[in-house]
Amino acid sequence: MSNDYSFDSSRRKFIYNVGLTAISIPVLSSFVKSSKFDEDSSRMRISKEKAAGKLGIALVGLGSYAGGQLAPALQSTAHCYLAGIVTGTPDKAEKWKAQYGIPAANIYDYKSFDNIKNNPDIDIIYVVLPNSMHAEYVIRAAHAGKHVICEKPMAITVSDCDKMIAACKKAGKMLSVGYRLHFEPYNLEMARLGTEKVFGAVKKMDGKFGFPAEAGIWRLNKELAGGGPLMDVGIYCIQASCYTAGADPIAVTAKEGPKTDPVKFKDVEESLTWQLEMPGGVIADGKASYSEGMNRFRAEAEKGWFELNPAFNYSGQKGFTSNAKMDFPRVNQQERQMDAFAQSVKSKTPSIVPGEMGRRDVKILQAIYEAMRTGKKVTI
Ligand code: NAD
Repeated sequence: MSNDYSFDSSRRKFIYNVGLTAISIPVLSSFVKSSKFDEDSSRMRISKEKAAGKLGIALVGLGSYAGGQLAPALQSTAHCYLAGIVTGTPDKAEKWKAQYGIPAANIYDYKSFDNIKNNPDIDIIYVVLPNSMHAEYVIRAAHAGKHVICEKPMAITVSDCDKMIAACKKAGKMLSVGYRLHFEPYNLEMARLGTEKVFGAVKKMDGKFGFPAEAGIWRLNKELAGGGPLMDVGIYCIQASCYTAGADPIAVTAKEGPKTDPVKFKDVEESLTWQLEMPGGVIADGKASYSEGMNRFRAEAEKGWFELNPAFNYSGQKGFTSNAKMDFPRVNQQERQMDAFAQSVKSKTPSIVPGEMGRRDVKILQAIYEAMRTGKKVTI
């Protein structure tokens, strides 16, 4: 929508400043140079990808994440490829068609979306819309008989998550959430250090994620976003707390930060801090903000500590422990995440980031908001 660019520029600026990947940019630029597809060459491209045994993905919502990360990553995936698009903007459809070689029959708008059920090129639908729209499109995708990846947060209510999970189950289709960091070596190392108790049992964790959001974007509209920075970036800290501890929180307290711009943040919190109580008395502090740039996660254990700073980027993670610097290969997270899901579908093995995990996190997000509103400890 009209806000895309302003948000895009602000978020990108933040992410680029802390070191965006050297992987996705060359992939995109070299591809764009060589891309001028007509209908015949687009069809040929689809046939070739299918013959290679890849699953076709249709992206729903061609905003900054779909355009800046997912479509470029789909140029180098081994088990899936960009087969279709769903957009309400005819100009975007034309641009993507020529740039990526999408045949006319694989381009849908929000009204014709359900006809995707008759399209054998499309195996997986990837919903990349504003948060409150995820539920409707995941359910429609399931009704169309397609497997689904849904962006985070999975939905804005737990009951929506239940409906999404039920629709996919009923259709016999798999549902996964776009949790890319489960495929990123530095975050995987945090999970290993924590769950294998390499420095003894984890005692305390602290995660912070924020960026300065521009006024007017859908992320500041409660109806579309479901909340503020907690829904958008706080969820990464919650995820990290769970995979580092290898456990789910049992209770939470939370406090809203001051509103420095009450007009801009009239609908949603500007910032928020919370404290998750994990089993065994482990504490996980968190902070999410739409006015402050922050991006780190730290765990303190009985015999040492380990941390990522930055922690949650598309690339450029840096990791340290109390006795070493982490050093892992750079990967394209989105490529790995989508390939893993395509392999799960092909081999009929459950996704490691299933709808149930998305539901758990929405439940935690809702508990944090309840704790913030009531000022009381909320049991999860
Ligand atoms: P964006 O604003 O750049 O794109 C949203 C898209 O939805 C646009 O193409 C817009 O035209 C379309 N849209 C359709 N109906 C709309 C409506 N009523 N209002 C606003 N837009 C509408 O947003 P984005 O950054 O691409 O985020 C999309 C989703 O992806 C969100 O759920 C977000 O949380 C998620 N996301 C995930 C990651 C990640 O790293 N996993 C990163 C960025 C965004």
